[in-house]
Amino acid sequence: MKPKAPKPLPTALLVLSLVLNTPGHAGVSGDELPNIGDSTGALITPAQEQALGRAFMRSVRQQARLVDDPDIQGYVVQLGQRLAGNSDNPGYPFTFFVVDDPTINAFAGPGGYIGVHTGLLLAARNESELAGVLAHEIAHVTQRHLLRAYEATQRMSLPTAAAMIAAILLGAATSSDAGIAAATAIQAGSIQRQLNFTRTNEKEADRIGIQILARTGIDPYGMPGFFERLQATTRLYGSRMPEFLSTHPVTTSRIAESLSRAEQYGHKGRRDSLTFRLVRARLKVQGSTDPARTLKEFEALADEKDAPPQARYGLALALAREGDPARARRLLKALLRSDPDRIIYRTSLAELDMDDGRPQQGLKRLADTLKLYPGDVTVSRYYVRALLRNGQAEQARSLVLDLLKRQPRDTPALYRLLAQAASATNRPWETRAATAEIYYMRGQTHAAISQLKQALGYKQLDYYERARLEARLNQFSREAGSDKEAH
Ligand SMILES: [Zn+2]
Repeated sequence: MKPKAPKPLPTALLVLSLVLNTPGHAGVSGDELPNIGDSTGALITPAQEQALGRAFMRSVRQQARLVDDPDIQGYVVQLGQRLAGNSDNPGYPFTFFVVDDPTINAFAGPGGYIGVHTGLLLAARNESELAGVLAHEIAHVTQRHLLRAYEATQRMSLPTAAAMIAAILLGAATSSDAGIAAATAIQAGSIQRQLNFTRTNEKEADRIGIQILARTGIDPYGMPGFFERLQATTRLYGSRMPEFLSTHPVTTSRIAESLSRAEQYGHKGRRDSLTFRLVRARLKVQGSTDPARTLKEFEALADEKDAPPQARYGLALALAREGDPARARRLLKALLRSDPDRIIYRTSLAELDMDDGRPQQGLKRLADTLKLYPGDVTVSRYYVRALLRNGQAEQARSLVLDLLKRQPRDTPALYRLLAQAASATNRPWETRAATAEIYYMRGQTHAAISQLKQALGYKQLDYYERARLEARLNQFSREAGSDKEAH
């Protein structure tokens, strides 16, 4: 590590540079730290960890852009939940989300919040590699590897601790948060060290992660394979180390050990899925900064003999984006004919219908799909959007209220739909209340409080709704440290 410049830096920059310069793992051996058992009294309680987790997620939303696309998000959530269901703690409340960031990174935050960057989704060559990373992160959570890091934050305020953990796990580069500036450099450095998993932790997370993969029916070689490739790429090309490696040190002995673990299970499980490949194609088109070039690339791929479905699907999306809906429709229809129940084909075609002046057709397609997959969140989100665009706001509202009852932890997108539906059905207080939730989930608690106060100004609120909003206002005010403002 280079010595620090002697000239004083602004606190925020100083903290940031400390965070960035802390070596990934060299010299940080958790094996030398006292056992957790030595400090039983200082252990963070499960309730505290959940509160830290929720605050962490708000900080993540404040500091990074999350992928909101129902198909992409839905896929990662589903894969994550399947894996978590095969962990040693299947009842633990995991939340999976996708960060729109090209760096190769994935992380487990407090409270079971597991994030994966789009850069990693694109770098994974097949589903088993992505699943390997997710299973590894799940294992860090179930094995409570981050307890020390959370304990190190206990002397800070909750928002500061959450903001700092989020900045470090997201790779710090995206951070411009006031919470970081408020904390001291020493605290940041100490938390960074605690967040870097030890080699022992890494091996354990690999071992348990591989077990999760095997139980889920996914090829366990995906995990060592991906980690080995990451390490080799970095070494070979001297490129900047992927964020993932800075918190998850990869060593040769670790890879050898995880390979022999995988061998115990053999190549029994599934290596890839079409859904993974389709989601990647979707991500490529959506994330493209040069749509014309992306179109050409998919054109070339789809042109080959026996072109795989993902090439034709990517081409259809690229065509739709570049203003050729007619050809996009033909391609999607052909894909759907060959695989009629596939949700992503159905929703993509319905989206095209809606954008291309055929709202009734799109709406019907989604209604039919929802009959096929009752309660499916991905399809429901598209359906609510279509209902809203088609002026059927009452129906949209009751559907979104129903979804919110079932999905309490993953909801900014749903609250946005509710705000729209409430506005279109002349319930301005409900629009305010939903907007308050969105602000709150992004860590903008003062803006949330202001929206709630405006919502409470409406006389049409019924008794129960008023009581609920008042309770919410009290909670937000307490958290914002402004109890006096509440009344
Ligand atoms: Zn790890």
